[in-house]
Amino acid sequence: MQRLKGIGVSPGVVYGRAVVLMQRAQVLRYRVAADRIPHEVDRLEQSRVRARQQLHDIRARLARRRGPELASLFDAQLLMLDDPMLVPKAETLVRDTGVNAEWAVQQVFDEFSAVFEDMADPYLRERKGDVADLVGRLKMNLRQDVSTPRDLLSALDEASVLVADELTPSLAAQVDWTKVRGFATDAGSRTYHTAILARSLEVPAVVGLHEAVARIQPGQMVIIDGTGDEIIIDPDPAALAQVARVCEDRRPAVHAEADRRRPATTADGIRVRLEANLEFADDLASARYAGAEGVGLYRSEFLLASRRSIPSEDEQFQVYRRMLEGMAPDPVTVRTFDVDEDQLALRSMDPTLGGSWLSEVERGSRQGLRGLRLSLTRSDLFRTQLRALLRAAPYGALRIMFPFVSGVEQLRRAKQLVAEARASLLAEGTHTPDVPVGVMIEIPAAAYTADLLAREVDFFTIGTNDLIQYCLAVDRADERVSGLYEPLHPAILRVLVMVRRAAGRARIPVSLCGEMASDPAILPLLVGLGLREFSMTPGALGVAKQVLSDSRLEDLKALARRALSLATVEEIEQELLAALGRYSIHR
Ligand code: PEP
Ligand code: MG
Repeated sequence: MQRLKGIGVSPGVVYGRAVVLMQRAQVLRYRVAADRIPHEVDRLEQSRVRARQQLHDIRARLARRRGPELASLFDAQLLMLDDPMLVPKAETLVRDTGVNAEWAVQQVFDEFSAVFEDMADPYLRERKGDVADLVGRLKMNLRQDVSTPRDLLSALDEASVLVADELTPSLAAQVDWTKVRGFATDAGSRTYHTAILARSLEVPAVVGLHEAVARIQPGQMVIIDGTGDEIIIDPDPAALAQVARVCEDRRPAVHAEADRRRPATTADGIRVRLEANLEFADDLASARYAGAEGVGLYRSEFLLASRRSIPSEDEQFQVYRRMLEGMAPDPVTVRTFDVDEDQLALRSMDPTLGGSWLSEVERGSRQGLRGLRLSLTRSDLFRTQLRALLRAAPYGALRIMFPFVSGVEQLRRAKQLVAEARASLLAEGTHTPDVPVGVMIEIPAAAYTADLLAREVDFFTIGTNDLIQYCLAVDRADERVSGLYEPLHPAILRVLVMVRRAAGRARIPVSLCGEMASDPAILPLLVGLGLREFSMTPGALGVAKQVLSDSRLEDLKALARRALSLATVEEIEQELLAALGRYSIHR
């Protein structure tokens, strides 16, 4: 039995088997039941088989295009793939310690890295890059069958507790809290956003533990004592029995049907529109269940993921129609493909690279030929998508939205292509209704020209995920600066006000669909800044409604005024905390 002291941020005592999440490395570490170990080993083996095929294909393609010398760079990776210290070692770890394949691969990589770091020879030291690349490929292939930590977190099948280095609100919102009884994190004071979520969900939580992830093995029994500011690892039977009695009595907050259906309002009756962000049409049901008033962002590029070819007009039409019918009469905002050249090339030119899909972090940092820019250079692809969308339009309330727009010229060309797609359908005898067309405001240039864009579109959607990183010049994939990624930076608050005003003057609706909206500490501030429409991951809708119903508009406006007068992120955060006094974790 071992005790770790931390900060209790949400009261209550629970116990469960630990599931360990390394959010920074995007790996979840959990215990695999004995009878599932052969399956886990098989996943590893499959991932190796796929990696070998992919490397051979890349090698052949490079040899054709750039000659044998460049192609041979991949020989080292092919050799490593068969090295007994890599995949076989990970398999042994799975068998001996019962951990999941992703974690085993990560652990083997960490050991490998340490060895490479110590090498005197710079050439050999550089080989670490090859190992990292290869390990990334293996992990990517493993993701094919279980996809993200989020999928795993929502699919846990035993009463567990979550132990994480850190837990962002958007990930926390995805967890099935009827199975996960509580959580503990190493990160401390800055996790207060998640702490608010924990309190709203009535899930006990302790943060600021510093070394919980390092000390706790997946599957180990852990007590989380949010009231007593501590966690207990491997509790003795007496301690466990005492907690078990209390634990039986508590039930996680499950929002009643009527609550879910009720529209979001502040305590003084101001309506706030809450819609859902979706990546897959199949998630429509969960959006409806959570009470979404529409789909504020459908990331249609996910239609291209885990497919061997670009879907045809008919295939796309079927998906869009299903979504529109499923959401009707509420609107579905379909964002046209937001991919870049590499992602597209993986689909259309190289079908053998089945599962290659860049992570969100990687996607987020891309500034090349991407989004609408790419669509405008690939008019075949764009026309197909627009025709499919327009054909589906009669089946519900469609809105078409263009991503990664940096100026009016692009918008005009895109609108021209919409008109041409409509004309081509009409020529074939297919009439389509008028469809609202909007843009994502996610590049600073678009924000600064919001007044000009507003004259030519029907709506705006602010994409803060990208807007923040480009406004602050912070590449989130670069760990050295990722700490500077600050949604509450004074510059961001000002940009949001600017865009909201431009939309207001042009009398067009504006919504915000970045992760920022699903953060219950920030949402009230956004309402205070004048925003009334948000789109977020469905899991976050319940808490968002709750937080809003606890606030009065006058207070939120005053909060926004104070926040806008402050000079640093820290001061703004303190202001939010003070306003949300009852949630405060600073003692
Ligand atoms: C955004 O940039 O805020 C956004 C919602 O788009 P994505 O996260 O898909 O880039
Ligand atoms: Mg974006």
